[in-house]
Amino acid sequence: MNKTLQYIQPSATLAVSAKAKELAAEGKMVCNFSAGEPDFDTPENIKEAAIKALRDGQTKYTPAQGLPELCKAVSEKFAKENGLEYAPNSVIIGGGGKMSLSIAFAALLNPGDEVIIPSPYWLSYPEMVRLANGVPVFVQGEETNSFKITPELLEAAITKKTVALIINSPSNPTGLVYTDEELAALGEVCLKHNLKIVSDEIYERMIYDDKKHVSIASISPELYKNTLTVNGVSKAQAMTGWRIGYAAGPTDWIKAMTTVQSHLASAPATFAQWGAIEALRTPEHIIKPMLDAFEARNKRIYELISEIDGITCDRPMGAFYIFPNISFFGMDSLTFAKKLISEKHVATVPGIPFGADENIRLSYACCIEEIEEGISRIKDFCKSI
Ligand SMILES: *Cc1c(COP(=O)(O)O)cnc(C)c1O
Repeated sequence: MNKTLQYIQPSATLAVSAKAKELAAEGKMVCNFSAGEPDFDTPENIKEAAIKALRDGQTKYTPAQGLPELCKAVSEKFAKENGLEYAPNSVIIGGGGKMSLSIAFAALLNPGDEVIIPSPYWLSYPEMVRLANGVPVFVQGEETNSFKITPELLEAAITKKTVALIINSPSNPTGLVYTDEELAALGEVCLKHNLKIVSDEIYERMIYDDKKHVSIASISPELYKNTLTVNGVSKAQAMTGWRIGYAAGPTDWIKAMTTVQSHLASAPATFAQWGAIEALRTPEHIIKPMLDAFEARNKRIYELISEIDGITCDRPMGAFYIFPNISFFGMDSLTFAKKLISEKHVATVPGIPFGADENIRLSYACCIEEIEEGISRIKDFCKSI
């Protein structure tokens, strides 16, 4: 067996979702806040494009880098929406954002290289880095500062072995969103120490209030040269099951990633790539109602959770998660989440695999009624402790 695996845990979010499904199958009315995916179906125009591709005989391998037409659509998307000029040969299509990230670490890291991961973090980052024989190094963001890391905290974690920083804004699990000034300041530290930046922007469209998404690579030509921008269609276009993500960055990085992908996967599924072209060109009036629903849920869940005595949390600025602090109740996050599912049939994800044992993660990729019912059960649960 691969020895690295003894340090790697199976994805805890998936385990909790499975438990919720099991209870539901027994006929229990479960309020499910554990999902890591939109509850919406993929828009019809996107499905039609994939079906058409199949009918047209698009059933063979694409180049390892991805379908040239999709690379071009991604390049146009970056130019139009993010102010980033990437030539199609600076783009690689991956089997989901997850595979794009994994392939990046496999291509960019040497054994023992350190990658700085702001904490709390998406639980797959450290495992992806470890699988690539890298070493994750965590920098704890202060909860009182919306869990954001600062240039000082970043600088203090850098060693001779540090090669990269992961940025995830909007963030899963905290919902934080960095401003352009904050990104510029973090970027400056990276440039000073010659660190690469891997920017996971999968939640860019789920952003609330007056917050604005900024791609760190768009801030300066120097940052552009040192950043891999990663995104995908899973979240904004409700396409988690299609497994299409993409990354863009310096041509030599993309070339190395293409080599890795050519051996690990050949390329993502061809008809799914044709669907993704349509996804990137989907008219705004089709996407917007889903984003508006997330905004309304964000407001409501925050309002309701704020009314619970003992729980503290910020209003999330982006993504579709809220990350309340439950330490007042004197339980670790796993005990709290387990008691909550068994006593009130409310599924959440404990904060521990995200690096935060005082918090739990609630996804609000569910309807307002489920939010109201679920939070009312959590309120009862908290009162009973
Ligand atoms: C969902 C998610 C992704 C991408 O998921 P895929 O389904 O693999 O495209 C990437 N990063 C974060 C933080 C996510 O939550």
